[in-house]
Amino acid sequence: MTVTASHTAATGTYVPFYIPHLTGREETYLREAFETGQLDSDGTFTERAVALLRRLTGTPHALLTPSCTHALEIAALALDLQPGDEVIVPSWTFAPTASAFALRGAVPVFVDCRPDTLNLDERRLEEAVSERTRAILVMHYAGVACAMDEITAIAGRHGLPIVEDNAHGLAGAYRGRALGTFGIMAAHSFHATKNIQCSKGGALFVNDPALYERTVLIRDRGTNRYQYFRGEVDKYRWVDLGSSYLLSEPLAAFLTAQLEELPRIQRRRREIWAAYHERLAGWAGRTGVVRPTVPPGCEQPAHIYYLVLPGPDSQQALLAHLAEHGVKATPHFQPLHSSPAGLRYGRTAPGSCPVTEWVADRLIRLPLYADMTDSQVDRVVDALTSFQPRPARRPAPGHDDRKEMR
Ligand SMILES: *Cc1c(COP(=O)(O)O)cnc(C)c1O
Repeated sequence: MTVTASHTAATGTYVPFYIPHLTGREETYLREAFETGQLDSDGTFTERAVALLRRLTGTPHALLTPSCTHALEIAALALDLQPGDEVIVPSWTFAPTASAFALRGAVPVFVDCRPDTLNLDERRLEEAVSERTRAILVMHYAGVACAMDEITAIAGRHGLPIVEDNAHGLAGAYRGRALGTFGIMAAHSFHATKNIQCSKGGALFVNDPALYERTVLIRDRGTNRYQYFRGEVDKYRWVDLGSSYLLSEPLAAFLTAQLEELPRIQRRRREIWAAYHERLAGWAGRTGVVRPTVPPGCEQPAHIYYLVLPGPDSQQALLAHLAEHGVKATPHFQPLHSSPAGLRYGRTAPGSCPVTEWVADRLIRLPLYADMTDSQVDRVVDALTSFQPRPARRPAPGHDDRKEMR
């Protein structure tokens, strides 16, 4: 029998892929914003949310934005990219990591991912650098840090800035330092699907203080309005390229409620992640299913729990099997380098991206949300462990270096 979403919702046994968590304080803060008439941007809740983000990560400056995509667009403007400039991006990421830079006329140069962490493969990075390269974009997949020591060294050798797409990595760390503080700028997402959400929102961390004033202008329609508010100028004017990239104050109120509860949200998410990891170890070992790799020195924020199946047929069969058992699991990215817009606007680094293609057809993400109950976790584990994937017909690309890389 095929269990439909409505059937299982009616019987209460359906495990959705995610449910946006609400702390209970969002309504109180929203009402406070309404009652005090704070419906614009950059009010007291924005200040509070920014203070929480700074305390959590140590970033010197955080600017709230309507989304991670908008934060990346500010970064692209602040880099003064010109048509024909190149930006190195992983192929295994979401479209905005590349699109925000292509919007400026820059060419995304796609690099493959490592077969273990699925992060930009630092061994493929240097060969993608050209005379036109202006920046290196990294995305910490599932909040597991990229090899930042190696990537920072390569960037340093070529005098290139690093920008982080840290949509997955708030509350993640690398060698004790918060993700989102390695790049000159780092984009964050508070979309409903992320660990901390305000329905739709984002933030740009500006870690290079020299870029701060500029990013403030860009975010405020390219005007120097903040100088006017500070009484530094008697009229504010259009002074730079920019757009309307401010988060509205009611959404900042929503976000403040979430950030205040971050430790509790993270604790529950980590519990569920750890339960999956431990309870699926035996089954995964027997069936050739690969669980996530978290290298030493990486503290991951339990944003995603994924599995890599032996083949595309088992990916599809497992998604169907889970659906029959009332569990919603989903694949993830489709490779950017071979996507219609990636082909039109980008360039693929020598060697192409075989690991990204390989993983896109094999990976599934399991339900993971703070409100998930223990019995829902049991249900997912039971459904998975009653599934027997077909053995792999060909080894993973880069399979031989999995050990070397750990
Ligand atoms: C979610 C996500 C984004 C986009 O976030 P928005 O806030 O929806 O713009 C960008 N990059 C990655 C890797 C994401 O997962």
